[in-house]
Amino acid sequence: MAMPHLETNGRKKNDLESGEPWARLDEELGHWQAAGRTASLWWRDDDATAPGPLLERLLGITEDAGAGLLLAVIPARAEPALANGLGAHTCIAQHGYAHVNHAPRGQGLGAWELGSHRPRDQVLAELETGRERLATLFGARFVPVVVPPWNHIDPGLFSSLAERGYIGISAFGPRGAEAGRHGLNEVNAHCDPIRWKEAARFAGEAKTIGSLIDHLRARRSREFDASEPSGFLTHHRDLDPPGWAFCQHLAGVIAAHPAARWLGIREVFAGNISAAKK
Ligand SMILES: [Zn+2]
Repeated sequence: MAMPHLETNGRKKNDLESGEPWARLDEELGHWQAAGRTASLWWRDDDATAPGPLLERLLGITEDAGAGLLLAVIPARAEPALANGLGAHTCIAQHGYAHVNHAPRGQGLGAWELGSHRPRDQVLAELETGRERLATLFGARFVPVVVPPWNHIDPGLFSSLAERGYIGISAFGPRGAEAGRHGLNEVNAHCDPIRWKEAARFAGEAKTIGSLIDHLRARRSREFDASEPSGFLTHHRDLDPPGWAFCQHLAGVIAAHPAARWLGIREVFAGNISAAKK
């Protein structure tokens, strides 16, 4: 005989423990509001190389929500047509050079294009080539910010990047102090809606909203640098339908909340962010 009540009880218990994810986000933003503060968020999208319906969808969602969009473009693979049809809210950053792993495999190192596995001059020369290509393709839309592929970068590159005129970097997780010491504004992403194990798919509302709330709460309590805006990271080529639905909903929730704001990209990397709701 089936005992469905056990399953039901188990599910109920979980729901009660975790709370409904969107309600918990609203609750966290309510704490910001009560404190007279505005939660700043920003949006990065990685791996862009070509125009298409998926990119158009992302451009539409972000533009409608008044969110700036930093498109991290792979220089060696970028098609010139990518420069067409980008909205005024969109800036371009440099996603490494060719998105190629140069770290030895099988040693648990993960994937690195901008690591210490090649001579530093070689890495820098490649970045320079990529930067020239993006500046040519995208003109004033290009901001000299490095988004390292797989979010891995050798801190030994920071001083050289600053000398060459880069203004910032963007990886993943709460920022450290090292890039700033070299004059680079590090503004990272903190929330990724994709679960990457095996095939890419939506990680689910509870996990995705949970990671966003974790960062917001740590900023609010000054456990992390409160001035680093919370970064939402998408990969438009890999989002599945539930992932798209999530992005659309989050875009609107932040835009509508009186104590939350999507930043423009130039604000994000100016290093002097006004938290006031426009
Ligand atoms: Zn990438």
